[in-house]
Amino acid sequence: MTRCRLCGSDAMASVVDLGATPPCESFLAADRLDQPEPAYPLHLRVCTDCWLAQIPPLITPEETFSEYAYFSSYSTSWVEHARTFVADAVRRVGLGPDAFVVEVASNDGYLLKHVVDRGIRCLGIEPSVNVGAVARDAGVPTLTEFLSPAAGAAVRAEHGPADLVVANNVYAHIPDVVGFTQGLRALVADDGWVSIEVQHLLTLIEENQYDTIYHEHFQYYTVASAIRALASGGLTLVDVELLPTHGGSIRLWARPDEVAGEPAQRVADVLEKEKAAGLRELSGYTEFSARVAKVRRDLLRFLIEAAERGETVVGYGAPGKGNTLLNHCGIRPDLLAYTVDRNPYKHGRYTPGTRIPILPPEQIAADKPDYVLVLPWNLRAELTEQLSYVHDWGGRLVFPIPELSIVEVTR
Ligand SMILES: [Zn+2]
Repeated sequence: MTRCRLCGSDAMASVVDLGATPPCESFLAADRLDQPEPAYPLHLRVCTDCWLAQIPPLITPEETFSEYAYFSSYSTSWVEHARTFVADAVRRVGLGPDAFVVEVASNDGYLLKHVVDRGIRCLGIEPSVNVGAVARDAGVPTLTEFLSPAAGAAVRAEHGPADLVVANNVYAHIPDVVGFTQGLRALVADDGWVSIEVQHLLTLIEENQYDTIYHEHFQYYTVASAIRALASGGLTLVDVELLPTHGGSIRLWARPDEVAGEPAQRVADVLEKEKAAGLRELSGYTEFSARVAKVRRDLLRFLIEAAERGETVVGYGAPGKGNTLLNHCGIRPDLLAYTVDRNPYKHGRYTPGTRIPILPPEQIAADKPDYVLVLPWNLRAELTEQLSYVHDWGGRLVFPIPELSIVEVTR
């Protein structure tokens, strides 16, 4: 029996079962193609006591993140997002020249380098050895570590308490949500602030973003369940912002319980929105599975018919979430000859499970395919512009989610 990792309840209801898939960041080198590849059940359930949606923690973050393939700086929109965030945070928290900022899961330093540029002292905590090394080379002090209560206390003892602790795009990635939250509390000053960005389950459900469910994302938050999670570490939610990132995210502003005070009106507004969407009862979750099945049927039908017409389809992007989609739909190189990615780490490697080759982006212009299937569909505006060159040979873009759409682009 699976128990809720936040509240311990065994009242877990099925939301969607996506079958068995490999960890989505385990891109295969060519010499591993003849080796067995483990696959794990990917089954989303929701706790009907605290409403935290979660998958079983079958892989450990240590397996995923010791050598991580994702470098935030490869995405133009992320770098800009980080710059704006730092400017806003400096204003909200009132960070002066003596302030100290810690970012957990600081990746390649894409965010903290804006803090460094402002002359504010900072420290990144990043578990991936290779990604953290890139950050240090860029002048961002970075510790190779997973956050735990003990690690948080050790950083506080050595560097002092942080006026601001940032944890963006990591709160879903840690199976020990209680220990991680206690680690955040250990890092932050008693009158400090914690800022967390995490995907919003409300938009995941409403916009059918099922490909953002994967083994590296252990839990999926509403604001209601995030309040419960923060409380497990002695933090209180004081404000929330709705962001368009990852198809819909929440930015949680939390403070230690003792100094939190009354939450902003926006917190009550978002809680009301979640309630209206039925996410505080089972009814809000029950339709999801049928909508997921439809994406699979529509995409497969399109790919099979294109193949039968003798038209070529290649992929654009090899994001982790692309692998949930490819594996769930069962798409292999007979239907999608290859995909391309801007990250050179992935070139010459193969997508996990489906074993689709990953090539440099220039391959698309060389081959002039009839269709380009965009796997990071959430960057639709950015990529429609970036890929407008497919217009030169009459190619079209295909976005699989929220529902299949085939788009003619103009130069
Ligand atoms: Zn629970």
